[in-house]
Amino acid sequence: MANKNESLPVWDLEAIYPSLEDWQRDFDMIRPMTEKFASFKGRLGESAEVLKAAVEAGLELNRITEKVYVYSHLTLDQDTGVDPSRARHGKLNALLAELSPLEAYFTPELMEIADDRMAQFLDSAVLAPYRRHLQEILAEKKHILSEPEEKLLGSYSNVLGLSSNVFNTLNDTDLDFGSVKDEKGKAVKLSHGSYLSLMENPDREVRKRTFKKLYRTYNQFKNTFASTLDGTVRRHTVGAKIRNFPNALNAALEGDRVPESVYRNLIAAVHEKLPAFYDYMELRREVMKLEKLDMFDIYNPLLPDCRKEYSFAEAAELVKAAVKPLGPEYGKALELAFKQRWIDTPERKGKRSGAYSSGCFDTYPYVLMTFKGTLNDVFTLAHELGHSMHSYFSNCTQPYVYADYRIFVAEVASTTNEILLFEHLLEQSSDPAFRAYLYGHLADEIRGTIYRQTMFAEFELFMHESVEQGTPLTAELLNKKYYELNKEFYGPAMEPDKAIALEWARIPHFHYNFYVYKYATGMSAALKLAANLRSGRKELREAYLGFLKAGSSKDVLDIMKDAGVDLSTREPVISALDYFGNVVTSLRRELQKAAAQGQQS
Ligand SMILES: [Zn+2]
Repeated sequence: MANKNESLPVWDLEAIYPSLEDWQRDFDMIRPMTEKFASFKGRLGESAEVLKAAVEAGLELNRITEKVYVYSHLTLDQDTGVDPSRARHGKLNALLAELSPLEAYFTPELMEIADDRMAQFLDSAVLAPYRRHLQEILAEKKHILSEPEEKLLGSYSNVLGLSSNVFNTLNDTDLDFGSVKDEKGKAVKLSHGSYLSLMENPDREVRKRTFKKLYRTYNQFKNTFASTLDGTVRRHTVGAKIRNFPNALNAALEGDRVPESVYRNLIAAVHEKLPAFYDYMELRREVMKLEKLDMFDIYNPLLPDCRKEYSFAEAAELVKAAVKPLGPEYGKALELAFKQRWIDTPERKGKRSGAYSSGCFDTYPYVLMTFKGTLNDVFTLAHELGHSMHSYFSNCTQPYVYADYRIFVAEVASTTNEILLFEHLLEQSSDPAFRAYLYGHLADEIRGTIYRQTMFAEFELFMHESVEQGTPLTAELLNKKYYELNKEFYGPAMEPDKAIALEWARIPHFHYNFYVYKYATGMSAALKLAANLRSGRKELREAYLGFLKAGSSKDVLDIMKDAGVDLSTREPVISALDYFGNVVTSLRRELQKAAAQGQQS
């Protein structure tokens, strides 16, 4: 750290509850408020007024529960070793589990109200503030089955999740990868965690050994892994059919009200821009002085680690300067994060690892992170504050019912801040080695978030469509497709080891349901928005602030469109990947400059 004596900021949780008695008082409200909400059971169809009162009772209950919960989990996360915090959190979870059946009546009963009666309710002025909220719940109605059918499905729900449970147990518990020798000849136990760090090892032989060893184990169990995926995918396809969706993709996207075209456009756009990715791989090949790259040559850092160190004060100033393109309204709000002490930064024994932004309507949007003064920490601060500012603006602008934003847009504001910071740091530095480091960092992020996740998305679509066409998922089929995709994505600089065909077996995301494409659309949107902001045009800045303030008051695609990104077209992904192409070109240029400087000195 640049200044070892600097005291690092600690968050102010007393702003939520000044004392534990205050927390307890709200905690004690949860039961009576749940009972009040439950007392509307059997009455929702009576009148618009009764329905409104029920909706409000439910929202008030959620609102206080969130506040009680946020305080409990933040106090726990700042030091998980404290018994009273653990006990408090356990007590809260037990209460919520006990009370949740009392709330379960609401959605099914709402669905039972006859369509014409519900239409009248929704048209009434009484329910106007909750129209969108109710419509979102009711949108599922055409996919809900009769009560006995739902009951039957419900009783099977644990059984239906079995194939992904088997995958998790096999992958995380039962598999034994043995150990590999590192560069000093020392045996390292091979696990999912050590695999990733060994793949970053500068010694190519270590990486190669690790790669071979890991996939030897997967190869032994490939048929079992294929069966688990076959089960998971069938769960999605059969589920979609039972619920009257045209296919599994359509069913999975329905929750975000995203049309299939967004998903298919993403894949098509990324294919169109594969040459930019080939160029990056070619640059790696040149720098590593290899005839061909292999799959174990893509995670080792191209450049020496950035050794710059920052004090927290410096990091805060960098973030503030980087987000200047967002204008004075944003800048003023950002000051609050520091003045009101939203951020917890010191390293502490028992503190939850990682970083997050968390809060609710009635608290600050807090940030938990461990600040050690690295450049990565500065990026983390910019990222988490991006989330927090999004929450702050939505909470200030929207009523409680529409304040929460959707997962689909959740990473957009945070990634936009990271890109603004990256551009700001570039502007500030004329040192080719540092600039190359920055370009390399961004190139790897775009590779991991847009190219790799889209390859995953394409594989997911292949699996589901295969099953929908009656083709079972065998290890042979999955291997063949996965290998082809890798060949196609990595291009001519890469001669992939055949074992990469098995990578599908170890990716937990393939047991999710069409989830990863959101990483790629989110980052594409962020790249586009950051470019808009840096253009300095006032209307584009206002459009961006509109997105931060929108919460969930509109459909996600409309919110993005108003912000300046039309994800129903290929354009945002194309322009994001054009930007990637420029990043790779700049990386090559800075590397050449740095090499020339190195020769001179
Ligand atoms: Zn994030």
